[in-house]
Amino acid sequence: MKIIIIGPPGSGKGSQAELLQKKLRLKHIPLGEILRQEIKKNTVIGKKVKSISMGILAQDYIVDKLINKIIKGRDNFILDGYPRRLAQARYLDKIIKVDRVFLFDIPKNLIIKRLSNRYVCMCGETYNLLSKKPKKNLTCDKCKKKLYQRDDDKIDVIKRRIELYNKQTKPVIDYYRRKKILFKIDSSKSIENVFNEIKNKLYKH
Ligand SMILES: [Zn+2]
Repeated sequence: MKIIIIGPPGSGKGSQAELLQKKLRLKHIPLGEILRQEIKKNTVIGKKVKSISMGILAQDYIVDKLINKIIKGRDNFILDGYPRRLAQARYLDKIIKVDRVFLFDIPKNLIIKRLSNRYVCMCGETYNLLSKKPKKNLTCDKCKKKLYQRDDDKIDVIKRRIELYNKQTKPVIDYYRRKKILFKIDSSKSIENVFNEIKNKLYKH
């Protein structure tokens, strides 16, 4: 199964991809995280992505090549964070046959509520004041350091990220809808319910 998941920030894509990886052996390929690691490790790709983050075309080319390298020879995976643009969706069609595209659908106010309650620790732990509260107020359960909010998770930034997401991905969504492989998922439900919905749609013909 070659799957793509598309959804705004805070729609729970990450948790679902992890579940799918664990239970159905689909390799989770989170492009955003992969690029962050490349930049952090200062690799050739990392340097290029960083230095040309203004030049969209060049960046597309580098990202396409990276994706090609990662998915080559793999049969079971979930692409997350790619394709973001129509040109990328078309490129992907040249190298593989996509089986399903899951679109995570969630009201904007719920995204804001979820993300603005997210707090992280330097050790990598993530908390949510709504669903995964730390035992002691804003302190990491594991290492006792003070938790903080990512700049990305502040309300104004969240709103901007959602707008950008809507603008960028609309043509991609339309593209897959026309190909009749787009499946909408109501991701405002619980993690378990969302997972069951995906599973049902995964094996339906
Ligand atoms: Zn910690």
